[in-house]
Order: sequence, then C-alpha cells, then structure tokens
Amino acid sequence: MNEKSVIVIGSGFSGISAATCLADQGFKVTVLEKNSTPGGRARSFNTQGYTFDMGPSWYWMPDVFESYFQKFGKSTAAYYDLVRLDPSYTVVFGENDFVDVPASLDELRALFEKWELGSAHQLDKFLEQAAYKYQVGINQLVYKPGRSVAEFINLRLLLDVLRMDVFQSFHKHIRRYFSHPKIIKLMEFPILFLGALPENTPALYSLMNYADISLGTWYPMGGMYKIIEGMVQLAVERGVEFKYNQDVQEIQVNQSIATRVVTANDVFEADVIVASADYHHVEKNLLPAQYQSYTSEYWDTRVMAPSSLIFYLGISKRLKNLRHHNLYFDEDFGPHANEIYTNPKWPTKPLFYVSAPSVTDLSVAPEGCENLFILIPVAPGLQDTEEVREQYYNLVMDRLEKLTNQEIRPFVTYKRSYAHNDFIQDYNAFKGNAYGLANTLLQTALLKPSLKSKKVKNLFYTGQLTVPGPGVPPSLISGQVVAKEVAKEFSSSAVVV
Ligand SMILES: Cc1cc2nc3c(=O)[nH]c(=O)nc-3n(C[C@H](O)[C@H](O)[C@H](O)COP(=O)(O)OP(=O)(O)OC[C@H]3O[C@@H](n4cnc5c(N)ncnc54)[C@H](O)[C@@H]3O)c2cc1C
Repeated sequence: MNEKSVIVIGSGFSGISAATCLADQGFKVTVLEKNSTPGGRARSFNTQGYTFDMGPSWYWMPDVFESYFQKFGKSTAAYYDLVRLDPSYTVVFGENDFVDVPASLDELRALFEKWELGSAHQLDKFLEQAAYKYQVGINQLVYKPGRSVAEFINLRLLLDVLRMDVFQSFHKHIRRYFSHPKIIKLMEFPILFLGALPENTPALYSLMNYADISLGTWYPMGGMYKIIEGMVQLAVERGVEFKYNQDVQEIQVNQSIATRVVTANDVFEADVIVASADYHHVEKNLLPAQYQSYTSEYWDTRVMAPSSLIFYLGISKRLKNLRHHNLYFDEDFGPHANEIYTNPKWPTKPLFYVSAPSVTDLSVAPEGCENLFILIPVAPGLQDTEEVREQYYNLVMDRLEKLTNQEIRPFVTYKRSYAHNDFIQDYNAFKGNAYGLANTLLQTALLKPSLKSKKVKNLFYTGQLTVPGPGVPPSLISGQVVAKEVAKEFSSSAVVV
C-alpha cells in the first residue's frame, strides 16, 4: 500500500480515469466534485420518463473503452451493453437528399463508387493509411505525456510521425483522394469532433475516419451515462472516495508545494493534486498569481473548440424520417465555420445535429414518445440570452420539420436549452467552451497546456484542455497518462524530484 494521498478535482471522464488508475496503484484517492452527480460534461438527467444524456452521444473508438476496463481486469460488458448502429448515422444534404452511412465497408465502397468513379479503390488506399495512423497515433502518441521532446526521440516513432503527414492539413489530404463534394463532406465530418477546421487540422487525424468507418459507431443501451456509472462503480471498487457538492475555491500553495484544497464547505490535505476541472479555471481562479503557469494573454490566444447551443426535447409521438444520429448539412459549412472560428458570432445559417437515442433504445423515452437532443456548434464567448436561444430553436425547428416532413413543435412536451452560461455555471468553462481546446497543429502534444504545473511541484492537470485533447476517448486516456506521471514521481518507490 502506497500511503500517499491524492485529491482529484472534478469527476468527468478524465478525473474518474485518473482517480481509478491512482487508487489501483495504492494511492488514497478522494475526488472532489462541485456538482451533485459525477460525469462532468457527460452527466445525464431524468424527467417526465425521459433520460437525457447532457453531452456526448457518439461512442467511437470502442477499443479505447475496452482497454480502459481491461486495465483493471474487467470488460465493458460487465458494466453496459453495447450495440453497433447500422446505419452509423445519416447525413442530410437537403430536402429529399440524404444518405444513410452504412456500417458495412462494402456497402460504403459501393455508395462512394456511385458518386465518384474509382473512389472505392481510393477509399481502400485512404483507409490503409488511416489505419496505420490510428495504430501509431492511438497506441503510441496519445499516451505520451507531452512533457519533453525526448519522448519523441525514438527513431522509429519519428519516422512514423513523418509518414503520418503531421504537417499537411486534413483539408488538402482529403482532396488528394476524392473530389465529389458529398464524399468530402462525409470524410470531413469526423474532424469537427476535434474542434477545428479541416484546414487547420493535421492530416494525422484521418485516423478519425478509420475510427468512424472501420471501428464503427456504437451505443451503450440506457445511454452514454451508463459508461460513467460503470466507471464510478469500478473506481469505488478500487477504493476511490467521491465527495459531491464540493466546489473547490482555492488551492493553497506553500513554497511551490500545494498543501490544501479549500472548498465551499471544507478543507482537504493531500500529497498530490490532480485537477481535471477546466485548466483555465484552476489556474486563474484557484491558484495564487505567482503559481500560475500561463498568462491571461496565453489563454486569450488559444484556439478554443466550439461551444454549443443544445435543446433537450421530449416529443409526445414517434417521429418519422429520423435515425439515431442525424447530421443536417443542408447549409454550406464555410460561412458557419467562419462564424465559429474567424469572425465569432451567432451563426446565420448553422449546420446542426440531432440525436434521437429513442430510435435505438426504448428505455430513454416514455412509450410512444421520442427523445431528441439537438446541438448547434457555436463560437465560445458569445453573449447567451433566452431570446437568442429561442430564435435558434425556431430556426432549427423550421428546418427540421421541413426536412423530416412532419410537424414536431406541437408535440414538444418537455424542453430545456443549454449553452454558454450553463457551461460556465456548471463546469467553470473558459468562455463557455463545450469541448475544451481545439486540436490544431500548434496545440498538439508538447504545445498543449502542460499536464504538470510549471510552478507547483505536486500539481498535475488532466482532461480535455491538456494532452491528448477533446473527446471522451482522449479524456479517458488523459486520466491514465497523468496517473502514470504522478506514480513516476510520487509512488513510494519513486525518487521525488
Ligand atoms: C454537448 C457536448 C457533446 C459532446 N459530444 C461528444 C461525443 O459525442 N463524443 C465524444 O467522444 N465526446 C463528446 N464531447 C466531449 C466530451 O464530452 C468531453 O471531451 C469530456 O467529457 C471531457 O471530460 P473532462 O474530464 O476533461 O471534463 P469535464 O467532463 O468537464 O469534467 C470536469 C469536472 O470538473 C468539475 N469542476 C469544475 N470546476 C470545479 C471546481 N471548482 N470544484 C470541483 N469540481 C469542479 C466539473 O463539474 C466537471 O464534473 C461532447 C461534449 C459536449 C459538451
């Protein structure tokens, strides 16, 4: 038993992952969470017979989840039932113009070939390279703590990195293989998960297409929150103690050592602190100025991933012409992207996404009803008011009713909206961001905010604002990476630096 104690601030995917890995190595771990339930951005709520996942809805990279549970001698199957969705999702290009993206690669090849002669063969070539990137990227690069160039000075890895087109943009890369606009739209979609434009995203991330096409889109029955419930159960089994309604307000530091964590109701002491709450919040609001690693200018010049305007809707009838995942790409992404990244403002003609988990899972809505989650990606830092939300509700509903060819609004019996102000209030999110820091080339690996504080010797960071980046699988990995770094320096057999 390692007698050292660790406090983890925050109980999102990264915090639970870090806490469980550290408890498994013998640390005494306490998680302090400001909200009344775990999960962070992946929380859920129940109302009127509906179960709404509040954040993530796409279950990609099942191997990352499986390897997480297997680390502890468990399997995802012990905690939740996964089903593979087929079609994986549907993309709507306009009225009566949509495509169901099939789970089968053969069917997808046939679809591509119909659009562009020779594109099935191009897809094979593209995926072969993407598979290689996934193998090196996910199995090696994302598990690097990004603390020193030395981690990458391994000839084989360097060669691999160069072979992975790290320095070319995804935008250029995809156009070397395909020219049909619908194929390009489909292939660029997974890049949106990384929080940046294809023009600014390294071609390394075609590994996301491998994740999409080859590994598939899955769904844990009961909803995404089942993953959190499983992870918390496993954490508790390993001895992690969770304390909710503990809003951390201060980290006290004495001679570069964090000594105490002060919450609204209590004071805690620990040998090590792992902050999984938003990096900017911890630095700027919880630490004394002289112990902050980054300036306000640094944060102001970071490219944040988008925020979101979300509607959780209960519909008192079953809807037609909807799949589980529906992407409405019936407007041009160029102007919307410009209004997210270049000239931040509320979008004029936004693209949007609708998740209808009740299409797959009857348990998330009352009988005969539909559970809808509508998301519009928007720039962080916008002024968020009820009027604006309502304006976008009407805009999206007009389009959704037209594109699915049915009335929906009169059947809305439950409605809740969620945007910047909620992200700030619930998660202390910098500028109300939803997905953390964008994965641009200049914000990759060593160039991300460091996983270890530069000023406080026993303070570490994890989560979507540090390595490896935004998304559920990266956050799960981030927790594992930080736990390894903590153990290297603070386990009883480690030499303290
Ligand atoms: C709307 C939305 C949709 C998404 N969709 C997907 C998807 O489909 N697939 C996917 O892979 N990813 C998706 N993501 C991204 C994914 O959900 C996140 O990357 C991931 O959940 C982040 O986990 P985290 O642990 O880094 O942070 P968080 O989940 O934010 O956890 C941080 C925790 O710290 C707590 N905290 C903050 N301040 C304090 C404090 N002072 N004291 C105590 N606790 C504090 C917060 O309450 C929170 O619980 C989505 C995100 C959002 C918001």
